[in-house]
Amino acid sequence: MIVTAGPGHLTSRAVTQQAGVATGLLFKHFRNFDDFLIGYAVDRTFQLTTTLTGLPALVGTGTVATNLSDMIHTTPMITLHTHPPARRQTGTHRDPRGLTSSSGGDCLLSTGMSVVVIGAGVIGLTVAHELAVAGHRVRVVADRDAAHSVSAVAAAIWFPHAVTLESDVLESGRVGYERLARLAETAGTGVVMRPGLVRVRRAGADLSWTDAVPGYERVADGVRCRVPVADTSHYLAWLTARVAALGVEFTVATVRPAEPGPDALVEAVARIGGEEPDTVVVAAGLGSGALLGDGETYPIRGQVVRLANPGLTEWITDEDNPGGLTYVVPRSGDVVCGGTGQAGDWNETVDPGAEEAILRRVYALVPELRGQPVLSRAVGLRPARTRRSLERTGRVVTCYGHGGSGFTLSWGDAARVADLLAA
Ligand SMILES: Cc1cc2nc3c(=O)[nH]c(=O)nc-3n(C[C@H](O)[C@H](O)[C@H](O)COP(=O)(O)OP(=O)(O)OC[C@H]3O[C@@H](n4cnc5c(N)ncnc54)[C@H](O)[C@@H]3O)c2cc1C
Repeated sequence: MIVTAGPGHLTSRAVTQQAGVATGLLFKHFRNFDDFLIGYAVDRTFQLTTTLTGLPALVGTGTVATNLSDMIHTTPMITLHTHPPARRQTGTHRDPRGLTSSSGGDCLLSTGMSVVVIGAGVIGLTVAHELAVAGHRVRVVADRDAAHSVSAVAAAIWFPHAVTLESDVLESGRVGYERLARLAETAGTGVVMRPGLVRVRRAGADLSWTDAVPGYERVADGVRCRVPVADTSHYLAWLTARVAALGVEFTVATVRPAEPGPDALVEAVARIGGEEPDTVVVAAGLGSGALLGDGETYPIRGQVVRLANPGLTEWITDEDNPGGLTYVVPRSGDVVCGGTGQAGDWNETVDPGAEEAILRRVYALVPELRGQPVLSRAVGLRPARTRRSLERTGRVVTCYGHGGSGFTLSWGDAARVADLLAA
């Protein structure tokens, strides 16, 4: 807050607003705002000292500039952590300074495991959120922030696409629908509920996903329903800020294990952070395969073109369009038009021919879009896998391979990761 708004804006109201708690809560723990600031400064001093003690161990590795900047990145800027870290307790716990918090609720005092999440796309961020809320000390390590990840390209409509509809996937989808629908009730999240049509052209198409969707209606040409849609530029920024406010630290770095596999991965992560975390969560999308030597991951290339919105409020998806995968998803500032679904294609460059074909199909489906100016275009490689990976092997937990359903499954799968850590 000091960095973004200046010290003059550092008031008790601003602090508690940022933390997402009631203003009065601060005065339950501190006599006045000055006492809070003193506690904060002392806490920061200890954190900085602890962080810097790891620096000598890095002598002879990397460059001085990288080591110093990694250290600065790992220095927590926002939350109050307890030192030394204690094991997580269940129920209400008390830290040495007499502050209390309840496990299960949003909690600024981390006393759980130290966890590094690799990946800052929608999966990594949502996992980081749920683990921080569960009381773990979490650091996200990623070489691209959310705004530059595949997640930023998504149409981000709640709908399970390019993923096997197994029962646990459907359950994660159900949880995802509920969580996103709740976020749609809060201003500023970038999530809204929108009605639309899932075009069904094949007899016997699997419609088991409809169980998660209240009030859906089977109509002649498909299924009409109301689902959450996230405007990725707003939603990912909101999620990043929310995660940071929960005390999650961010480090910009590429994880490069000496060889693929869990042991080398933990070592590589420790080299970046200066200490070995209790657990590493692999949520690196398409990058996950290389980290673990998993040959089952592959890209499904998706191209989109974003047009000015002529006033559309309803979306439409047409997966089995004879011309190719087609969808139109209106957002506040534009309309996402897609798409392509090219399995095994690693080309991240916009293909003008593919764009022309997308626009032809989209105009046929929604004639109002004809003549609307192109605002932007993008390509994203959906992180696909024969089956998404969600399991624990020793200190490594995996959560990747969400294909075209990362937003749809994010909250449900993040809760599963939290369960795997608690088991
Ligand atoms: C065109 C398109 C439309 C889509 N539409 C929808 C939709 O409507 N609904 C829906 O639910 N889903 C949709 N998706 C799918 C969705 O975008 C993905 O499933 C989701 O973004 C995957 O998220 P992720 O966090 O796993 O991966 P990513 O967003 O790719 O994030 C991966 C993260 O890992 C980091 N990383 C990777 N390797 C390393 C490494 N070695 N070291 C450090 N960091 C690393 C990256 O820097 C990045 O931060 C769409 C996708 C595309 C391309």
